[in-house]
Amino acid sequence: MAETPRRVALVTGGARGIGAATARRLAAEGRAVGVLDLNESDAQRTVDAITADGGEAVAVGADVSDAEQVDQAVAAVAERLGPPVILVNNAGVIRDNLIFKMSEDDWDTVMNVHLRGAFLMTRAAQAHMTEAGFGRIVNLSSSSAQGNRGQVNYSAAKAGMQGFTKTLAIELGKFGVTANAVAPGFIETDMTAATAARVGMDFEDFKKAAAGNIPVRRTGRPEDIANTIAFLTGEEAGFVSGQVIYVAGGPLD
Ligand code: NAP
Repeated sequence: MAETPRRVALVTGGARGIGAATARRLAAEGRAVGVLDLNESDAQRTVDAITADGGEAVAVGADVSDAEQVDQAVAAVAERLGPPVILVNNAGVIRDNLIFKMSEDDWDTVMNVHLRGAFLMTRAAQAHMTEAGFGRIVNLSSSSAQGNRGQVNYSAAKAGMQGFTKTLAIELGKFGVTANAVAPGFIETDMTAATAARVGMDFEDFKKAAAGNIPVRRTGRPEDIANTIAFLTGEEAGFVSGQVIYVAGGPLD
């Protein structure tokens, strides 16, 4: 197998959960990683873990839904590490509610972080990829894209990520850039812990109940998603593009 070249990766929402596991995994593969999160100090925790393991990373603070902050963050990573040619659009939030109780604010926040955020980040980073003649974009969708009670905003955004991904694949393919979506099922993170709290369940009981409905009989871990992203951003995945990979312990969730 060919050795993995250094290349610069940028992971949004990299302070914790899936983003932190992905940043650490890509760094372990030899990538130099820009870890972006709302607060630079939170992102720095992931950077410290990477450097303690002998990897290379820098922390940047930015709100992915703010165009100016995004452009500055991508430029800062390019300056400090080199042009980012791997982008993982992972930053995410939930604002769950049944539609009759959902506020406009809850709708807009979810759309802005997931869809506008992925758009702004990709628009800024693709210039480096097309110039390099190489790029790997991975967007975080979700099994909720297929519909999930209480998540009309989130499921719409996550379904939107799939169309966004397929169009990127069509537009950027001729520049050596692939775009794929990973759609996780139940992954053990602060996000699913918050869902358990919202429905008034202990997290361990919530996980056990979820595992019973998953074919492999366990809930997912951030590393399960990081492993899939490592493959999709790898040197040898250049002929895989425009795909949605469900990583959910079974065909659905
Ligand atoms: P998480 O633990 O809640 O982490 C999300 C990270 O994104 C946090 O560090 C958060 O920062 C950051 N973030 C939020 N808004 C941001 C913004 N505007 N700009 C920059 N960073 C921002 O979530 P997770 O469970 O790891 O989920 C990661 C991704 O996978 C999300 O896109 C999520 O929708 C998707 N996903 C998760 C699951 C699951 O079961 N966990 C399933 C399917 C899909 P703060 O800490 O400062 O808020």
